Amino acid sequence: QIIMGIETSCDETAVAIVRNGREILSNVVASQIESHKRFGGVVPEIASRHHVEEITIVLEEAMKQANVTFEDIDAIAVTEGPGLVGALLIGVNAAKAVAFAHNIPLVGVHHIAGHIYANRLIEELEFPLLSLVVSGGHTELVYMEEHGTFQVIGETRDDAAGEAYDKVARTLNLPYPGGPHIDRLAHEGEPTISLPRAWLEEDSYDFSFSGLKSAVINTLHNAEQRGEIIEPENLAASFQASVIDVLVTKTVKAAKEYKVKEVLLAGGVAANKGLRYALENRFSDMEGVKLIIPPLSLCTDNAAMIAAIGSIMYEKGKRSTLALNANPGLDIEK
Ligand code: ATP
Ligand code: MG
Ligand code: FE
Repeated sequence: QIIMGIETSCDETAVAIVRNGREILSNVVASQIESHKRFGGVVPEIASRHHVEEITIVLEEAMKQANVTFEDIDAIAVTEGPGLVGALLIGVNAAKAVAFAHNIPLVGVHHIAGHIYANRLIEELEFPLLSLVVSGGHTELVYMEEHGTFQVIGETRDDAAGEAYDKVARTLNLPYPGGPHIDRLAHEGEPTISLPRAWLEEDSYDFSFSGLKSAVINTLHNAEQRGEIIEPENLAASFQASVIDVLVTKTVKAAKEYKVKEVLLAGGVAANKGLRYALENRFSDMEGVKLIIPPLSLCTDNAAMIAAIGSIMYEKGKRSTLALNANPGLDIEK
């Protein structure tokens, strides 16, 4: 079985070819970061325009690298949501055009399900499992009893982890996207500044990062007013320590309560070295629980992960019609 994955939900134009849901034949990603950098974030109109310019080139390159023709492809999986509507539409329309022209089944998939299934490109999944999803727009704990069904047991009530990283980075005058810069700085400093941790209600697996973000901004402003100097390395290290503490503690608690066999890390913030290290540390001696962490290239947006979830949905019999539309608010549980 050969699946083509197409991903255009944000600022990466990506097409991949994956065999049997697990074997990457090609994985082409055209990133637009350079175009959005000077605006300090993703500008939706610019993203859409780039997707239009890139999608055909990226698609042809992915097929060439995988050495496949349209006849070889069993289904086209495309991100139908969530994401920027104008960006999603380019991928959805490209997928529909190819599906129609070559009479190939079309399968619309959920972007975050894709992030989770990046892990299946590393190892076969074992259920029940728990996935910690930490990306630019999402922070949630997702429980899975079987392939293709997702139960959100906790999620952020305000900022996503990646969003908090990017906002703190902007306060420190670091370039967009700020996550990797904070990560690097954090390793050069010490967590000497006391910052809050939002644990919320005792039995809640929800998250909240806006208070932490404000605390970082206030700490900087107060120091400025008093003429004191705060080492950005130490502030980054303190912020990162707080984020990781909450993420890891809640993940460990949920893994025990739900008695899962595996814990998966997913989303762009999964590229964070501190988080990867902390999870490895906590799960290395927990018996019966296996931790899977994808390599950096599969953590941030790509289309191999879209083909990976597409493969499962295709096997489950899911088919989308040519009426498929972008759905910016798509729900992973439905
Ligand atoms: P979503 O998947 O929720 O729709 P998205 O696709 O925009 O959002 P991703 O591409 O999954 O998000 O992740 C991008 C985010 O990951 C950015 O916020 C970026 O700062 C963050 N990020 C990337 N590398 C690191 C890192 N090393 N440490 C912390 N954050 C990081
Ligand atoms: Mg991105
Ligand atoms: Fe993403």
